[in-house]
Amino acid sequence: MSHKVTVERNRLKFAAGHFATFADELEPIHGHNYAVFVEVEGPLTDESWVMDFSLLKRLAREVCEGLDHKFLLQMDSRVLTIQESDTHFEIQYKATLPYRLPKPDVAALPIDNTTAERLSEYIAGALRSRLALEAPPGLFRLRLGVEEMPGQAGWFETDLSDAMDTSPTDQAP
Ligand SMILES: [Zn+2]
Repeated sequence: MSHKVTVERNRLKFAAGHFATFADELEPIHGHNYAVFVEVEGPLTDESWVMDFSLLKRLAREVCEGLDHKFLLQMDSRVLTIQESDTHFEIQYKATLPYRLPKPDVAALPIDNTTAERLSEYIAGALRSRLALEAPPGLFRLRLGVEEMPGQAGWFETDLSDAMDTSPTDQAP
């Protein structure tokens, strides 16, 4: 038996630009008002909580804020050639004209494509680290959805048991 809590949308949003790649195609640059859904599963505390909603919202919002008003760049793309200088990313796809983007406008993400599926995986990973430091122990599953537009979302699910084994004191410098 388990319980879960969910937080979603409202302030769990970010507006960002991107282009995804498909078989033989690079999307034109465009943007989405992304909405994020978070589900955390775990045991009930003595006071019948899984975890505090406000803490979960704050941690998820911190991750969203890092993506808000940025261009989401798939640094591990297998089809884009990305060159990084002190000030810019220059991005080349096949023989098309290169894009040149100022670094402060870019969220450089360790993913191979900026699909909703990979974005949900990235956000889940960032949230997982925060949960390990701040959430009550015992949480065992995180599901994270990223909606590109109403009715169209990618989801990622990850086991939290390993992350939550590490007590905050172990992480202290
Ligand atoms: Zn898109």
